Amino acid sequence: MTEAERHRLKEKIAADMEILKADVDALRDSIKPIPPDAAIGRLTRMEMIGNKGICESNLRSAQTRLTKLESALKRIDSVDFGICVECEEPIPLKRLMIVPETLRCVHCMET
Ligand SMILES: [Zn+2]
Repeated sequence: MTEAERHRLKEKIAADMEILKADVDALRDSIKPIPPDAAIGRLTRMEMIGNKGICESNLRSAQTRLTKLESALKRIDSVDFGICVECEEPIPLKRLMIVPETLRCVHCMET
């Protein structure tokens, strides 16, 4: 990986983290406890609780990805970064630009 590529990847990770942080904040807001007398348009309480469940699981996956991106950012300057942990082949930059937090190449992910 060239320095320019590494730089692009760092920017990509930072940008993804910004988006995720905003998502986490928004999701945290949306899972605040629902007041028992909440009357919100046509949404019934059961629907709200259902939505809340979806938001909670979205929140968890956003937080998990955020943690992985943070650790990718810490690893990015090391010589091992971008090397598949299974086959030890370089992971294509195209893949890293989509999922910078990945530890495996596509081939090893599938097996
Ligand atoms: Zn591999």
